Amino acid sequence: MSAEHDPSLSPATAVVALGRPERTPGASVGPAVEFTSTFVTGGANAYARFDNPTWNGFEEAVGRLEGGTALAFASGMGAIRAVVELVPVGGTVLVPQHSYNGTTGLLAALQETGRLTIRRADVSDETAYLDAMDHVDMVWLESPTNPMLEVANLPQLIEAARKSGAISVCDNTFATPLLQRPLELGADVVVHSATKYLSGHSDLIMGVTVTTDPQLQEKLHATRTLGGAIPGPMEAWLALRGLRTLHVRFERACANAAELAARLAQHPAVTKVRYPGSGAMIAIEVAGGVRAAEAVEQAIRVWLPATSLGGVESMLERRRRHASEPQTVPDNLLRLSVGIEDVDDLWTDLDRALRG
Ligand SMILES: *Cc1c(COP(=O)(O)O)cnc(C)c1O
Repeated sequence: MSAEHDPSLSPATAVVALGRPERTPGASVGPAVEFTSTFVTGGANAYARFDNPTWNGFEEAVGRLEGGTALAFASGMGAIRAVVELVPVGGTVLVPQHSYNGTTGLLAALQETGRLTIRRADVSDETAYLDAMDHVDMVWLESPTNPMLEVANLPQLIEAARKSGAISVCDNTFATPLLQRPLELGADVVVHSATKYLSGHSDLIMGVTVTTDPQLQEKLHATRTLGGAIPGPMEAWLALRGLRTLHVRFERACANAAELAARLAQHPAVTKVRYPGSGAMIAIEVAGGVRAAEAVEQAIRVWLPATSLGGVESMLERRRRHASEPQTVPDNLLRLSVGIEDVDDLWTDLDRALRG
C-alpha cells in the first residue's frame, strides 16, 4: 500500500499525498493533465465522458476527506441535479426554506413539470423539520444555509431521515469536511459546489458528490455519464491543486471570520450579524437599508464586490440583488465570504465602507 492510502494518515496529510504519479526515479511529483476525448481500446479507460484519469486524484482526495466515494461533476448544480435524479418520479423532497437558491430553483422547475413535489421548512427549527419529514422520499439538508447561515441539528435530522426511509442529502459547501462529515452521521449523500472552498481560488466551476452506498454511487455515476455533466481535465487538475491547501486556507479564513464577526457586532452601521460560530461566512444587515448596503459594495477596495464564495480573496454582495433570492432574505443583507488576507486590512476596508 502506498503511503497516501494508509488509513492512519490524517486527511490533511492524505490530501497532500493523493493523486500523484508512482515514485519512480525521474517521474513528475505532480499528476499530468490528460487532454483527450478517447483512449486506445483494451485499457482501463474507454471514452473521456465515462472516465478521465485526471478526475481520479481529486475524487480520491475528496472521498478521503468526506469518508466515502466521490464523483466529480461539471458544477455544483450538475452534482445536485444528479442527486435529485435519485428521487422516484412523483416523489417528494423536503428542502430548507433558505437552501441555496439554485437548489430551490431547480426543484421548483422540476415541480412545474410534475417530476416531483417540494416541501419546504425551516431547517433550523428542528421540530418543524422533523414534522415535515413525514412521507418524503428525499430529505435535503444544508447547514449553515446560504445566505441566512441558519444551522441545523444534523445528527438528529439525519437519524430521523434514516428511520423514515428517505434518502438524506447534505450540501456541505459552507462547512466543508473540516467542520462536519455528514456521511459519518449516517447521511446517504454529500454534495459540494467544489467551485467554493474545495478548490478555493475562484478560478473554476466544479461539483462533487460523495456517498458510502454502492447502489447510489452506481446511479450517480450513470447519471453523470448519460447526463454528461463532466468536468474538464484542466478544472479537475486545478481543483486538486487547490484542495491540497484546504486545511491551511480554511483555518486562516475561519480565524479571520471569527475576528471580523466579533468586531462587526460592535459596529454602529450594522444592525445584525449572522455568524454560526465557525466557518468563514458571515451575513450582516446594514443600517440604512438597500442604499446603504449598495454603497458598501461600491466603497470597498480590498474586498471584492462579487457573487460566489470560498476563495482566498474576500468577497461580499447584497444577495437580494438577485431576483431569485427569496423575499424572506432581508434586502439590506450583505453576505461576506472571508478570505485569507490580513485581518486588519480587511477590517480597515470594511469599516471605512460601512461608515460611508
Ligand atoms: C454555489 C453553491 C452551489 C452551486 O454550485 P455551482 O458550482 O455554482 O454550480 C450549491 N450549493 C451551495 C451551498 C453553493 O454555495
